[in-house]
Amino acid sequence: MIIVYKFGGASVKGADEIKNVANILEKIPPHTKCIAVFSAMGKTTNRLEAILKTFPQTDHLHKLTQYHEKIIDELYTDEKEKAAAYMKLQALLQELHTELTSNFTNDKDEFYDRIIPFGERISTCIISQYLNIAGIINTELDARRVIITDNTFRSANVNWQKTENAINIATTELFKTTDIIVTQGFTGMSETQKPVTLGREGSDYSAAIFAHALDAEHVTIWKDVPGVLNADPKYFSDAVKIPFISYWDATELAYYGASVIHPKTIKPLQNKNIPLFVRSFLNHEQDGTRVMNAAQNPSYNTEKKIPSYIFKPNQILISISPRDFSFIEEDNLSYIFKTFSEHHIHINMMQNSALSFSVCIDADKGDFTAVRIALQQQYKVKYNEGITIVTVRHYTEKTLLDILKGKEILLEQKSRYTAQFAVIDPEITTIEHQPLE
Ligand code: ASP
Ligand code: MG
Repeated sequence: MIIVYKFGGASVKGADEIKNVANILEKIPPHTKCIAVFSAMGKTTNRLEAILKTFPQTDHLHKLTQYHEKIIDELYTDEKEKAAAYMKLQALLQELHTELTSNFTNDKDEFYDRIIPFGERISTCIISQYLNIAGIINTELDARRVIITDNTFRSANVNWQKTENAINIATTELFKTTDIIVTQGFTGMSETQKPVTLGREGSDYSAAIFAHALDAEHVTIWKDVPGVLNADPKYFSDAVKIPFISYWDATELAYYGASVIHPKTIKPLQNKNIPLFVRSFLNHEQDGTRVMNAAQNPSYNTEKKIPSYIFKPNQILISISPRDFSFIEEDNLSYIFKTFSEHHIHINMMQNSALSFSVCIDADKGDFTAVRIALQQQYKVKYNEGITIVTVRHYTEKTLLDILKGKEILLEQKSRYTAQFAVIDPEITTIEHQPLE
């Protein structure tokens, strides 16, 4: 039996947390093989992004080094073991430095994908060694050997056939001598041998890829929350855990911005009916949430669902109207979509009327100014910043009244199960802009 565990950044952010991971792995039942997929430690990925932005300044590079050295320092008392871990860290940091200084490519996204996976590589290198010394015998597998993709840097598409093959060949070999394989999430290699990433927060997806390829028994994502909650505890102090949720509902929640699972994670599992558990690494004895096929729990479709609330702050609401007084119809829509797509900007919510088309996008992803300039040739473009999208899945009228109290609604949309609103939250300052002429 093969299972897949995924440990995110928070679960390995310090020496104590890594020791806790060892406790979790120690409890794997006998005769079970485990793929343990790790993220970069703590906020390392953000730190690497800062390094990319500021290099040749070395401030962030120093902080990255210090952070990992401190973890090694606290993991070991034995000086020899400590020195061995330092040496491995040094080698990776040296490699990172060489990449930063000598490798030049004009493609910014390609360069990003050469640099950012170092977080995961450092993490698995330190953790694998520590686990072996702690008696949890494991072998490290370089994810770039087996996750094979196209060249869409920063959001690479998996070549499923090649990846499944490579995963099966590599793990069959390694599992002959070890019960635990430690590997990196979030990263892979393109068919033309270039390192790639699968999109921010993509380690969940990596776990699903391994599980799919190996027909795993189940996948567990270890988190700092007790499971899938019906709201972000940051906004709702009375958020509750959902004990069981269908693949479908989980995908919808993830897609609308619930940050608990990466949206791409579910499909590969659903297609093979592999259950996904979301559990707390802080209370690892407790059951978390089980994500699985609704058909396996026949009462699911009839029982009353707990409404789920998702807040997506930091949105820009854009309203686009043709200058020539043509209607918002297929040709205009197709031009507008093409413009967003060419600038890699994802539309989170949209609505059209006869003369105008409104969309919400993330303020901090993609180059909104470039899109605006492109659209302004043919359209009047107005926009509001500081917008929040509020999504309620399995809503009732009462839940909507409660949640929208005190908020100004600019856009609203309801389907049978989901209600969405673009709102101004009075707590967030909003600046209204006139179109640039
Ligand atoms: N370390 C990567 C990130 O922070 C991937 C992940 O943690 O899932 O985006
Ligand atoms: Mg994460």
